[in-house]
Amino acid sequence: MQTNQLEQFRQQCRDFLAREATPYIAQWEAAGLVSREFWRHAGEAGLLGIGVEAAYGGGAKPDYHYANVLTEELIKAQMTAPVVISHNDVIASYISTHGTEEQKQRWLPGLCRGELIAAIAVTEANGGSNSAELETTAVKEGEYYRVNGNKRFITNGINADLILTAVKTPEVQRGQGMSLLIIERGLPGFTRGEALEKIGWRASDTASLFFDDCLVPCKNLIGHEGLGNLYFMGGMPRERLSISGVAVATAELMLATTLEWVKKRKAFGQTIGSFQHNRFVLAELDTEVKIARLYLNDTINKFNEKTLSVVDAARIKLWSTELQIKVADRCLQLHGGAGYLSDSLIGRCWANSRAQTIYGGTSEVMKEFISKSMGL
Ligand SMILES: Cc1cc2nc3c(=O)[nH]c(=O)nc-3n(C[C@H](O)[C@H](O)[C@H](O)COP(=O)(O)OP(=O)(O)OC[C@H]3O[C@@H](n4cnc5c(N)ncnc54)[C@H](O)[C@@H]3O)c2cc1C
Repeated sequence: MQTNQLEQFRQQCRDFLAREATPYIAQWEAAGLVSREFWRHAGEAGLLGIGVEAAYGGGAKPDYHYANVLTEELIKAQMTAPVVISHNDVIASYISTHGTEEQKQRWLPGLCRGELIAAIAVTEANGGSNSAELETTAVKEGEYYRVNGNKRFITNGINADLILTAVKTPEVQRGQGMSLLIIERGLPGFTRGEALEKIGWRASDTASLFFDDCLVPCKNLIGHEGLGNLYFMGGMPRERLSISGVAVATAELMLATTLEWVKKRKAFGQTIGSFQHNRFVLAELDTEVKIARLYLNDTINKFNEKTLSVVDAARIKLWSTELQIKVADRCLQLHGGAGYLSDSLIGRCWANSRAQTIYGGTSEVMKEFISKSMGL
């Protein structure tokens, strides 16, 4: 990692977000989605496809510290981070890793320029935690797959032009009956629901998707039929690492904001932060957040060295997001009523934090992974 280059990149992200995000966030939150102009400008500024090879228009920065710096700056700017992370960290990386040359040329330049927006669709109305229970089917008919089913809670669900969709196909071996298809905007039989109203991440367009005899060209299959679970196992560490990056950055932001608050706000003739109980709460949080930062850096280094296992990624996702919720809760309490206002920074972070132990695999699912690795 080149510290100077990384800091330059941070400044680039910060300047960009101050100019292209901060003035519009309230408007995007009211609309429930980020404007397409933002995506195009982010592409022009080199913030999309950070890890994608230059030949496909990407930033050619495989060092994950860069993607994490963008996450940190998105959080500091209070910009809805999941929309960018899904696009950048999740979908572009699946196409880069498993796509054919033709697919990479067809989609990656548009994703990097922000002309195409991407989503990943796994969760369904009847099941989220167990991806083996998929009900969306894809039946091969000549040059097409006939897709039927639905997806729920999909980030970028309204804006997305490309949807990396998990579908059920015939089992090639026991437990290998899931495939990944890119479903494109405009295909007949593909419709979307309204953006779902959420308690947090309000500018993130989360929607349901419906496939009704939707004919998807076979050339949109990512990798081989039936190996979707295997590809997910390969892609999960990155997705969970990115969620952990959000957790640590948000916890740091909440703690810093709360420290400022408790030094100013007074009760019983003294500052809130001077009561022993509150000093001890903050001392504990400060220690745990510093551990989280070290843990995250170590995990990013492992990811860069290609030694981050699925279980290691589950561990950091579990620990950092549960910590984030704890920090959010304690910090909101220290703000008193002011923290409960929906436009307060701490109130917003608290609501955003609550989704973090749910998407990308719930905390309970993480514990299943971890305990299995312990022979339990
Ligand atoms: C803001 C937001 C954005 C999202 N974005 C996306 C997206 O882009 N793409 C996508 O595919 N999905 C997305 N999701 C969906 C998310 O991944 C699912 O909500 C999540 O996987 C949980 O699935 P579920 O909601 O169906 O919960 P369920 O599977 O119904 O689980 C309900 C509860 O039961 C618990 N549970 C389940 N199994 C066990 C077990 N074995 N032991 C103990 N407890 C268990 C769960 O942990 C959870 O607490 C998003 C969700 C949110 C909130």
